[in-house]
Amino acid sequence: MKYDIIIVGAGPGGIFSAYELTKLNSDLKIAIFEAGNPLEKRKCPIDGVKVKSCIKCPSCAIMNGFGGAGAFSDGKYNITNQFGGSLYEYIGKKEAIDLMKYVDEINLAYGGEGTKLYSTADTKIKKMCLENGLHLLDAQVRHLGTDINYVVLENLYNYLKERADFYFRTPVEKVTKLEDGKYEVHTADASYSCDKCIISVGRSGSKWMETVCADLDIPTKSNRVDIGVRVELPAEIFSALTDELYESKIVYRTEKFEDLVRTFCMNPHGAVVNENTNGIITVNGHSYEDPSKHTENTNFALLVSKHFSEPFKDSNGYGESIARLSNMLGGGVIVQRFGDLVRGRRSNTERIQEGYVTPTLAATPGDLSLVIPKRILDGIIEMIYALDKICPGTANDDTLLYGVEVKFYNMEVELDNNLETRNKGLFVIGDGSGVTHSLSHASASGVYVARYILSEMNK
Ligand SMILES: Cc1cc2nc3c(=O)[nH]c(=O)nc-3n(C[C@H](O)[C@H](O)[C@H](O)COP(=O)(O)OP(=O)(O)OC[C@H]3O[C@@H](n4cnc5c(N)ncnc54)[C@H](O)[C@@H]3O)c2cc1C
Repeated sequence: MKYDIIIVGAGPGGIFSAYELTKLNSDLKIAIFEAGNPLEKRKCPIDGVKVKSCIKCPSCAIMNGFGGAGAFSDGKYNITNQFGGSLYEYIGKKEAIDLMKYVDEINLAYGGEGTKLYSTADTKIKKMCLENGLHLLDAQVRHLGTDINYVVLENLYNYLKERADFYFRTPVEKVTKLEDGKYEVHTADASYSCDKCIISVGRSGSKWMETVCADLDIPTKSNRVDIGVRVELPAEIFSALTDELYESKIVYRTEKFEDLVRTFCMNPHGAVVNENTNGIITVNGHSYEDPSKHTENTNFALLVSKHFSEPFKDSNGYGESIARLSNMLGGGVIVQRFGDLVRGRRSNTERIQEGYVTPTLAATPGDLSLVIPKRILDGIIEMIYALDKICPGTANDDTLLYGVEVKFYNMEVELDNNLETRNKGLFVIGDGSGVTHSLSHASASGVYVARYILSEMNK
């Protein structure tokens, strides 16, 4: 089977490149290969009754399938160059922001109309943060919410399925370069050739991406992992921030080690959830736009970035080992009251039940100090006290900490300014490239490459 363009991975990167390609040239023959299921068949078996925790399915319904890792996410599209990836380093700051705004317009046109766009511009919170040694990063945030995000994806799929061939439950095993400069994509049952190939396999495809780079002699580098906890507390405590900004990215430099600790993925009235990356259970969070699905709690992550220097190269392996420790001690994610952590004792079921914060995730009560390296944990504790100054109550004894939250960064694939590898016609976009770490940046990278490919074809 021959295609003009093959896209590997149907996450936001793959979806938006397919969208832009089909919109600008309806004659193109395009195929999209996806390891997971179509959207409506993506069902995590955890029902809280029969299946209470992750059973490590071979293809994780949360991470794989149409919509990618973002399908059941909070659908927070951050329009900013200050976090979420380094796309601007390749394509320029203005172009990156323009593309993120374009993605926002499409999301609105496909079901997101009426959702709120929050902004840090002109907020007094910035000054309040600065007065307390905290730094609020600038951004606009479109909050689709898990429910509307799903509707947008459904509508985009209905548009795309008429214009491109989808191969679900079809992981690509290998990509080879043909002598005429074209590419062949190999699955378990067949091979498909194409003029151009766009790889957008996200974080779940990181190990596979390494093999592609090794096979096609594409240089990579990997030196970063973020480690931390997810904090859960009564929504009222953070309402001064979340009512105005929804999500605030705040950075704090610790006094003890001058490390940077930052807030990440804030979910007002949300729920804490498990995340399965290559069989390792870590923690994440999301929230719904629909008020009937709101919880009484807000959750967010506190993360510390670890950068490694030579000779150590396996930063993700380091993060995995720490997550494995929590999986070993807790059978999955561990939860601890902040009061227990600072008093040096483990939390147990009774102490969690007696607390005033009801956990939204059934995690194992335990002791995070047995899992998280001291320097990182010290930084997190310092930041909780710093946040307590702008949101009093953050450092309450009953504040819950879930661990570990790990942000694995894909190795950085060597790409030129058009996100093309040294093999002409082979592009790597989205989180799988190491360039992006967010919905908006991954989607924008897809649009960028689609436009570039078409401009090259039209030359
Ligand atoms: C629970 C959760 C909540 C999140 N919340 C937010 C948020 O609110 N805002 C935000 O900006 N970001 C959020 N993120 C991150 C965001 O989802 C990712 O940054 C984004 O999805 C990256 O898009 P992508 O297309 O690069 O990769 P992905 O979304 O990971 O998609 C890659 C796709 O490729 C497929 N694939 C992998 N290997 C192969 C293969 N060999 N063959 C075929 N298919 C393959 C996978 O099955 C997957 O569907 C969240 C992530 C999670 C897990």
